[in-house]
Amino acid sequence: MNVQEQILEKIKAYDKIVIHRHISPDPDALGSTLGFKKLIEDNLNGKDVRVVGYQEKNLEWLGRMDQAGDAFYEGALVIVMDTANSSRIDNKNFNKGAHLIKIDHHPSEDQYGHLNFVDKGAASVCEMVTHLALGYGWKISLEVATLLYAGIVSDTGRFLYDTVTPQTFEAAKYLLTLGIDVNELNRNLYKKPMNVLKAQAYVLNHFEVTEHGVAYFKMSKEIQKEFGLTTGTRSLLVDVLANIEGVLVRVCFFEQDKDQIRANIRSEGPIINQIAERYDGGGHPKASGAMLKKWEVATDLITELDLVCQYFGEE
Ligand code: AMP
Repeated sequence: MNVQEQILEKIKAYDKIVIHRHISPDPDALGSTLGFKKLIEDNLNGKDVRVVGYQEKNLEWLGRMDQAGDAFYEGALVIVMDTANSSRIDNKNFNKGAHLIKIDHHPSEDQYGHLNFVDKGAASVCEMVTHLALGYGWKISLEVATLLYAGIVSDTGRFLYDTVTPQTFEAAKYLLTLGIDVNELNRNLYKKPMNVLKAQAYVLNHFEVTEHGVAYFKMSKEIQKEFGLTTGTRSLLVDVLANIEGVLVRVCFFEQDKDQIRANIRSEGPIINQIAERYDGGGHPKASGAMLKKWEVATDLITELDLVCQYFGEE
């Protein structure tokens, strides 16, 4: 049996299923978990499926989280999606079930599941779920199609990243045949509240660029407060510095709590996830995150990134 078949066997064997994903969820994490829940409910009888985790207000339009107390985990199947490392799973109850499955597309050594289905070649977990559902011969409703399409569009930067493959378009093509309202979906995904627009202007006025092409900005807690930014709306600033001539890597630094500076790192060339791993982070080769303890460490990270930019294309 291949891993996809083994996953189906487990889903059939358990009547209680809890689905988790990573902290600071994005549309791929939410689309894949909420979509998988609906797929199971729509195609198999007698399943009680709960999607758990922090309710991200900015993405509430994708769906709401369920509750699952300790008793629900007894004898339950737990599926964790879109999460490379166990330390990033929201929340820590994921170990309380009877069996644990990981479904993910990040490169990672942390195979925390009893069963691990990791496809590094998939551009999103929503793409993986679409192919899983098609392979199982499952019916996909319009609601599920919209959730999965949202994750595919978002995790590929609207089909721009080099993670996009023919399989990505096959999944997207199939989902589109189900009648998705693409205009409404895009409005939801990319709508810009006025405060975010003003914060984007702040970024454009305050970013800096290193000698070899690292563009970055640092945003203190006070400034984030001034613009009314949340962890959800902050993500709308990550691409403001994309596609600048001469820039290969961009980093957003957001001061969070004491001793916590979140870095969002994106690359248009060099591999950056191995560097992110050294700064309490990780992710994809060209899209990673990291967590720093103080601003001096941000300077070290910028220096390291500048070095890979300097030698990029020489190997
Ligand atoms: P972000 O910058 O938060 O949008 O994250 C970009 C990518 O890196 C996503 O695929 C995240 O799952 C991953 N990522 C972000 N932060 C971390 C971290 N601290 N450890 C491992 N992976 C991370």
